[in-house]
Amino acid sequence: MKKNRKAIALLSGGLDSRLAVKMMLDQGIEVEAVNFVTVFCTCTAKSSCKSEARKAAEDYGISLKVLNATDEILEAIRNPRHGFGRGLNPCLDCRISMFRRAGKYMEETGAGFLITGEVWGERPMSQRPDALRTIEKESGLDGLIVRPLSAHLFEPTIPEREGWIDREKMMAIEGRSRKPQMQLAAEIGVNDYPCPAGGCLLCDRNFAARLKSLLAEDPHPAIAEIQSLKLGRLLYSSAGRRIMIPRDEEESKRLSALARPGDLFMEAKGHMGPTAVIKNVGSSETSGADAGGSAATSKAGASGSAATSKAGASGADIDESTLLEAAALTARYGQGREEKSVTVAWWPAGGDSAEHSTLMASPADGWKLAESLRRE
Ligand code: SF4
Repeated sequence: MKKNRKAIALLSGGLDSRLAVKMMLDQGIEVEAVNFVTVFCTCTAKSSCKSEARKAAEDYGISLKVLNATDEILEAIRNPRHGFGRGLNPCLDCRISMFRRAGKYMEETGAGFLITGEVWGERPMSQRPDALRTIEKESGLDGLIVRPLSAHLFEPTIPEREGWIDREKMMAIEGRSRKPQMQLAAEIGVNDYPCPAGGCLLCDRNFAARLKSLLAEDPHPAIAEIQSLKLGRLLYSSAGRRIMIPRDEEESKRLSALARPGDLFMEAKGHMGPTAVIKNVGSSETSGADAGGSAATSKAGASGSAATSKAGASGADIDESTLLEAAALTARYGQGREEKSVTVAWWPAGGDSAEHSTLMASPADGWKLAESLRRE
């Protein structure tokens, strides 16, 4: 096999991947890095995996390619061949698709193998020894994934057998303790690494439940829909519609920005409070002005008719009970929560909020609904 001392590193910027890169650079290997991001990353914008990876790439003077793997991970969730972890995390399928993509990049760039910071047995689902073998085989990269931190626990890879890299200079780290990595970091001069704080929302059971419900409603949701699941309180009306109530002003702004055609906004008039969003209830092409529908003049509460109707002139295909329940909740979470009744305005996303419809809502009913409706 032709000698090839160029490698692609899967770089998150955390300690393990930094160590793997440094060990290869110390062996004189030419390294380029790829970093995968998805809509499910929990890192904040200020300290994201992407910027940790970028920092690490800069520290080591290597180039970095950032790849978005959201489509692949969603496909893996829809069709998990290897099941889920504790949430909706299809880690094996996810890793297989990421490795496939990294393998493609390896070919495009003329590199000879991949390197990762994976550690034998460190993560329960994707770093079990049998899982690591499965990932290798199913990604079509058999013998081409070098794991410098645990290399001695695996059969020698092609780059080791061919003498492109020195197996003796790699390690046999296993398990979940990070002490060996920290010791190695001190020995080889890897100093500035982040705490292992980042993660993936798919492992969070609460978020997983929200996502599962959304995918049941729409197997191919827009990214904005997924983003909105990270925010606010999510309640389901008696008719199963999603009602999102932001917890503060920041969430109000973000949820409103993520609203899509077909969503409805709701706000209490004359009282500070949240801008609630009723998701996916119709077209935004028509205005919510001059709603003459029955809901627009009803007293809100749990007692409204559940008959499906075109609510007002908004074009929203919303059942009346959802409209009434959402209004009561909007009143309950606003500063008019102690009032007997509150006027609530509603209008379609993309419509003009100045030309809205109104209805009267009872905050007391909202308190009861907050306890009785399904929430995720
Ligand atoms: S934790 Fe999330 S990003 Fe990581 S392998 Fe599992 S599903 Fe993929």
